[in-house]
Order: sequence, then C-alpha cells, then structure tokens
Amino acid sequence: MTAQFPLLGAVIGKPIVHSLSPVIHEAAFVAAGRAGRFVARECDSTDVAQVLDDLKSQGVIGVSVTMPLKEVIVTLVDELSPDAERLQAVNCLSFHEGRITGHNTDGDGCCDALEEIAGASISGSTAVVLGAGGAAKSVVLALVRRGAHVIVVNRTHEKAQQVVTLAAHHVPSGTGSVRVGTAESIADASILVNATSIGMNTEELPIPRELLHPGLVVLDAVYSPLDTALLRAARHAGASIVDGLWMLIDQACRQQVVWFGQQPDREAMRSAAERELASRQK
Ligand code: NAP
Repeated sequence: MTAQFPLLGAVIGKPIVHSLSPVIHEAAFVAAGRAGRFVARECDSTDVAQVLDDLKSQGVIGVSVTMPLKEVIVTLVDELSPDAERLQAVNCLSFHEGRITGHNTDGDGCCDALEEIAGASISGSTAVVLGAGGAAKSVVLALVRRGAHVIVVNRTHEKAQQVVTLAAHHVPSGTGSVRVGTAESIADASILVNATSIGMNTEELPIPRELLHPGLVVLDAVYSPLDTALLRAARHAGASIVDGLWMLIDQACRQQVVWFGQQPDREAMRSAAERELASRQK
C-alpha cells in the first residue's frame, strides 16, 4: 500500500514481524475503497505506552493487540467494552476524540467462524474448549453467552476453574452451563475448540485422536501450520473442521466493525491472508 496513504491502524505486540494483521486489514481497506495503511509496530510492556502515544498523534482509528500485551494494555486505555472489562483482556483498541477504548473480539470471532464456516449450532450444544489462557477465556465466555453447555479442559486445573468462575455469571437463563471437565467429555460434544498453543509448528495433538468423532465441528485456534495435526486427525475421523485463520479473519472483521461501523469483505481478507502465507512458503 502506498506510503502517501494515511495511517489508519496498526498491530502491536512482540514478536510482530510475522503478523498477518496488516495484510488482512489492508485487504479490507482496499475492498471497501478506503485509502489507508495498517502497519506492524513491535513493542512490549516496556514501551507500549510510548507507541500508543505515537499512534494517537498520527491519527490512527484502530489498533489490533496481540501477545504479550493483551492484559497489560487494560491499564493503559481510557475505557473498556463490557467484554474486555469482564475478561480483563483486550485485542482491539478504538481511538475516538482523543480517547482509547479497549475491546475483545477473539471469542465472538471464534463463534462466528464456527457458525459461518461449519454451520455449527451453538445454542444448546455441548462444546469442549481446550485451554484456559487468554484465547480460551474469551472463547468460553462467547460460547456460554450464546447458550452452549461448555466444558473447559486444561492442563492446569486452577486456571480452568478461574475461567469457569468468570463465565458462570454470563450463562443466559433457560439454556447453557459451564464447568471444568476432561477430554473424555468430547464423546458427548458437538463442538471442540483447541485454544491451547499445542500444535503450533509441531505435530503434537492436544487430545488423543480416538476421542474425535463424526458428530464434531473442530476449530483449532492455532493457524501455524494452517492444516494442524488436530485438524487432519479430525478430518480423518469424519468431523467438520474450521481452521484458525477463519477465527483470525472473523475476529478482525469484528475489529473493522468497531472501527468503521461496516461489515468488511471477509472473503477478500481471507484470500489476502492465504496469498501471504503461500508467498512465505516459497
Ligand atoms: P496462553 O494465554 O499462553 O494460553 C496457552 C494455553 O495453552 C494454556 O491453557 C496452557 O495451559 C496451554 N498449553 C500450552 N502448552 C501446553 C502443553 N504443552 N500441554 C498442555 N497445555 C498447554 O495463549 P493464548 O493467547 O490463549 O493462545 C493460545 C493459542 O491460540 C495460540 O496458539 C494462539 O496463537 C492462538 N490464538 C489464535 C487466535 C486466532 O484468531 N486464530 C486468537 C488468539 C489466540 P496451562 O494453563 O496449563 O499453562
């Protein structure tokens, strides 16, 4: 994108050089006929405040926030959306009239991908979420709010219990529930989300493959590689699959809506991300 275009947004985090966010958001700008750039700015907790000041003075509209800043940044914003407040984690900033608001679009992005890519019915379903870190808590909250019966499975039991306690306040009346469980619960589930980092650039599976079955929709939040060992095993077991790039695209779509109030062209965003990934493999 040409350097004369105004700077509309940035992704911040560390490391940031391989982030797909600039490509994804600039593709949305192009599809919407919006002249603007979206850049990557590397920073961590030591210099993020300075970077935010710089971006604010350059007039950006929005910022995507990634590791390791999602929780640190909570203390640096002027206000938080209700979800970011509940989660005490932010993956998106909006700048308006000199004020910065923190949002969290990870969980709803995951649910959008489950519904739109695999046609999953979330309300009333049994959903197993693997993990209890930043991504998992956002996903659990979003699934619970949409009326799923969510079972949280995590290596560290206390962290799973904390996520359950957080989400339990948001179970809608009449449907849904949330509890800690074990991977064996997958037998009765129709949705499985891997929100651990297991499988990132490895062939490791987060659960025994025997637990996968044809009645499942499996979403792997890990998107490096795109076709993870879990997704391949799920496909082999006859399950429907949703890759982590769709979650990344759908959480970015929600960020574009926060910033511009308009649904972006998600197919254009996905195509641009796939082209970028393909070019990196050459
Ligand atoms: P995080 O806060 O560091 O949480 C990591 C989780 O993985 C924890 O629950 C941790 O368990 C578990 N874990 C890590 N290594 C493990 C191992 N060897 N065995 C068992 N459990 C293990 O990370 P995060 O921000 O939630 O991100 C998790 C994954 O989601 C990453 O791969 C990230 O790239 C991906 N993600 C994708 C998207 C997307 O849009 N596709 C968005 C956000 C995140 P303990 O609690 O026991 O440590």
